[in-house]
Amino acid sequence: MEHKTGSFAYSYFMGDLTENFSAWEFRCHCGNVKCGPMQILDPDFVEVLQMLRNDFKRPINILSGYRCPLHSLSLARPRSTHTLGIAADIVVAGTTPVHAAMHIYENFFPEDIGGLGINWEKGTIHVDARALENAVIWRYRRGRAETIRTNAQAALLNMKLLETASYG
Ligand SMILES: [Zn+2]
Repeated sequence: MEHKTGSFAYSYFMGDLTENFSAWEFRCHCGNVKCGPMQILDPDFVEVLQMLRNDFKRPINILSGYRCPLHSLSLARPRSTHTLGIAADIVVAGTTPVHAAMHIYENFFPEDIGGLGINWEKGTIHVDARALENAVIWRYRRGRAETIRTNAQAALLNMKLLETASYG
């Protein structure tokens, strides 16, 4: 953590949780004045994200991590994994959501990532560390979550073909 005068000190911005992740990235974005210092984050979940990051060898941007009870999405879904500090909406740099989801499905589901949601419209994926026995995959269509109940592999492949066609 050296800061060298006159040169850009990358290490200054490096993660305070793991090599690549910092606590501020997971903070609630609700904007409420009462969204206080109480931020929940499971360190094991951050370790899993670091594992994904190492595996992809690409930066992972956290768009939404912890959501406090005052967050509008928490009001709608008070039992969301985001409220437990075991979830994140992410973008894996240089990948499409289906490509990233497919890779996570093949390598980390359901042991490490028990919840996997593909938001094609927003270009993001949701990952969470829910318990194995509750593992689930879903996708969003027009903002609504649709669980993929049977043959997730085929559904993902199908989405990947559609995605390839649509991105040209
Ligand atoms: Zn908040």
